[in-house]
This record gives sequence, C-alpha cells and structure tokens, in this order.
Amino acid sequence: MTDRTGPAWDDLAREFDRWEAADGQPTLWWRDDDAVEATPALARLQALARVPVALAVIPAAPERPLRESLAGAVAGWPGACVLQHGIAHRNAAAAGEKKSEFPPTPSTETVAGLRAGLTALRQVFGERFQPVLTPPWNRIAPDWLPLLPDLGFAGLSRFGTAPYAEPQPQPGLLEINTHVDVIDWRGSRGFAGTESCLGRLASHLAARRTGQAGRDRPTGLLTHHLVHDTATWRFIENLQDWLARRGEAGSRPVPGGLSCFVSAVDLWSPGFTVHA
Ligand SMILES: [Zn+2]
Repeated sequence: MTDRTGPAWDDLAREFDRWEAADGQPTLWWRDDDAVEATPALARLQALARVPVALAVIPAAPERPLRESLAGAVAGWPGACVLQHGIAHRNAAAAGEKKSEFPPTPSTETVAGLRAGLTALRQVFGERFQPVLTPPWNRIAPDWLPLLPDLGFAGLSRFGTAPYAEPQPQPGLLEINTHVDVIDWRGSRGFAGTESCLGRLASHLAARRTGQAGRDRPTGLLTHHLVHDTATWRFIENLQDWLARRGEAGSRPVPGGLSCFVSAVDLWSPGFTVHA
C-alpha cells in the first residue's frame, strides 16, 4: 500500500466516478491561512502547490506585522492571490464564548479596523488582492454581514460542515467556504489524517452532486502552512499527485486532474455565478 491507495482513496475515486457518470466536473479550491511574511514554510507551500492558492493574510496584527517580504513572495508566485484574514487575529469574544474577532454588535473601532485592513492589503498587493473576508476562527456574528458589502467586500469564506447548508449570507456577498481542514486542531494539532480529510472531501462532493449543497460552490481545502508537520505536507502532495494521475488516466475531459482546482480570483470575479 502506498500513500495514495487504501479505502479512503477508493471512496474518493468512486465519488469522482459518480460525477463523471453524471457528466459533471467536481471543482475544488485551496485556502491557506495566517500569512504575514515570507517564511521557509511559505516557500515550501509555494514549491509544493501545483494549483492556485488563496492566501488569507492578516493585515494588522501588532505582534505579527504584515511584512514587505510577503508582497515579494506573492509577486513571484503567479498562482497565489490574497484574501483578508480579519484585522489583527485577536479574540474579542465575551468570556466563555467561542473565539471570534467579530462577535455580535459591531463596534465603530472594529468596523474602522476592517476598512483599514482592506485598504492596506489593496495597497500592498494591488490586483492580487481579492476583497474577500476570511474571519479568524471562521467565525463572524450575523449582524456584521450587512456591513460587509458597504465596506467593499465582495465575498466571505468560512468553514462549512455537514449538512453544508450554505445560503447566500447577504446580497452582494458571495460566500465560498472551505470544508477539508488538514489540521486536527482539537486533538494532536498535527495532521488530521488521510481518512478524515478524504472522507470530508468525498462527503462534500457527494452533497453537491445530490443537491444537499450548492453544486457550483467548489469544495475547499484549508491549510495553515506555518504549522504543517511532515504528514500534512505529504498529504497535500499526495492529493495533488492523485488528482494529476486521475486526470491523465481518461480519454475525455475527465473529472479530476489538477485543473479541478479553481482560482479564488475566478470564484469572486463578476463572471462567476452560483445556482442554489
Ligand atoms: Zn487564522
């Protein structure tokens, strides 16, 4: 058994087969969180990624300021684009509540911080920046949502869990979430495991295929390059290898192949529309 064989890979292959039988093209996208500067881990991510990656960048963390080196890294990485990862990645939730930078009742100060963050990222990254908010801990209270389009955001990206009800949160705001977190945050804080990751991947694809989730909204891979252990890096490589091999195997445009990864630039372009 190699790294790319076993029951979980077989299940994923069967799900891709079902899409193929239905003449569908499963789509994926990749979000990586918490960048503020160029690091060896970011260079490793770039070297490993053969598909587009959306970097969720923290604009204004005092203890981890945004560095010019990240602009250089993004400029030299054509497949990368930048989303806004909150403001300072600071927990503002009330005691006893789950961590959030955007708890209920938006304060004037936090709204101003969000606007300043967007302006800063646009200045630093120019066209490579997409006005999409990825709230830290994937959490934002509902009363923030009506404010986001007026602040200049076109999109929102959180973490979607089964049963994947992902309604449009707000007119003018397209939400496209991630669904496969490679890190086991609540347990080892290392790799979540091949079975778990592939299970979530296949489960979201199945939900889309059967109409339980929006068919057009791609299944999102979520990574955090700064904390990847060896097994996590290997999984990301294996997944790309598996998709590439599957793409080569068929005779017609085969569901699978690395081209099933779509760029966040395209997802939040005016030409992209989703059907319920
Ligand atoms: Zn984060």
